[in-house]
Amino acid sequence: MLLINDVTAVTMDAQRRILSNASIAIDGNQIVAVDTSDVLKTRFASAEQFQADGMVVIPGLIDTHAHADQSLLRGLGDLMHWIPFLDDVVEPYLVKRDPADAVLANTLAMMEMLRCGTTCFVSPNVDPRDDYQSLSEAIGNLGIRAVLGRFIIPASGKDNLEIAKTTVNAAVNVMNKWHGSQNNLLTMWFGLDVPRRPGDTDHPYFYKTVSEQAEAMDVGIVYHFCSEIEDANYIVDNYGVRPAEWSKDNYALGSNVLLINGCQVTPLEIEILAETGTNLVHSPVANMKMATGILPLVDVLNAGVNVSLGTDGALNNNSYDMFSEMKSACLLQNAIRQSPTAMTAQTALEMATVRGAKAIGREDDLGSIEPNKMADLVLLDLKQVNTYPIHDPVSNIVFSANARNVHTVFVAGRKVLDDGCITGMDEAMVLQSAQERGEKICAELKLSGSNTWPVS
Ligand SMILES: [Zn+2]
Repeated sequence: MLLINDVTAVTMDAQRRILSNASIAIDGNQIVAVDTSDVLKTRFASAEQFQADGMVVIPGLIDTHAHADQSLLRGLGDLMHWIPFLDDVVEPYLVKRDPADAVLANTLAMMEMLRCGTTCFVSPNVDPRDDYQSLSEAIGNLGIRAVLGRFIIPASGKDNLEIAKTTVNAAVNVMNKWHGSQNNLLTMWFGLDVPRRPGDTDHPYFYKTVSEQAEAMDVGIVYHFCSEIEDANYIVDNYGVRPAEWSKDNYALGSNVLLINGCQVTPLEIEILAETGTNLVHSPVANMKMATGILPLVDVLNAGVNVSLGTDGALNNNSYDMFSEMKSACLLQNAIRQSPTAMTAQTALEMATVRGAKAIGREDDLGSIEPNKMADLVLLDLKQVNTYPIHDPVSNIVFSANARNVHTVFVAGRKVLDDGCITGMDEAMVLQSAQERGEKICAELKLSGSNTWPVS
């Protein structure tokens, strides 16, 4: 039993209560009580005490769009349109990289996430060639929650039920092996690919089979959707319907589906997403950086669609920092709607916590600080020059805080960041390996950054 004492708890519970002079009691991996410190110190007098005087505690942040395997290429995707970005950087990297490099890239990204207060992430396109054993071990060692969308595309050639089942079953075998491993830190989803441009396959039997399997396995489906004007137009030109209509026709919408981006959605499509209970993840920094398009976020939220937040990746963000996403989500909507009230800090924090939990089907045990939920907690030291004084903690968290304010992080009751130190791995060694391997990959792929200044 552990008692975290004398904190301000931004609970994100149903009433969105913010409790001053509070304590949080943890038993094993769960929160068992949240109340005033006076009450809980008496009730749990024999518990181990963690004095967190004056800190602000929030639920662990949930990054629902994070290509964690791209961190070794940080800074090499600048100034790029999405098509050469995929063809000239991402695809060659996936083909040529060593599986150990993918593990290293994930490890570096997961360390950054923990330092940024992220306790759970969704990696949407996890390569079938990756070393899942080592990846699983890295997740377990660092103690972060991971939802890995195992990348799956239709087999080339013709489409029929038998071929679809063979393709999907191969993925299912891998997913079943790792789903729930590392004490349930690791969850396996389908990382789907849908037609976005010429040459992409579209097999109705395949999509229906994925949908049926996901339902049978009680897992989710994640995929990039209606992101750019080109991929939206591709669907319209080739199928005569909008992307959401195509997805609905192909059984690729629903409450266990998480769509990425959706920047080009029309009012009709927003209605379809709301009707089907489909979730959408918004990545404002990457969308702005790549000039992908601007999600009409306020309209989507007003329609009742569950929208969460994500960072995308080190190639087009170029970080895994959810504080930056929360702030940017507000600024972007305020700017385009020419209204300082378009998007509030409260909504942004909801998108990074409770809405993120709902997006991955975990609203019952993640996303808020309440009894019987998992003890995924972030202790913020806001007594720093960038976040002091505190008049409105939510405003300070969304508009002023950054990773430097993240003091200690718990996932499932385990301290995974302790007073600013990663507990599960040697961070200096990972940094050294990342630089060495990053330089080697960069040379092999003949990639270079966008810098035009002389370097000596
Ligand atoms: Zn993505």
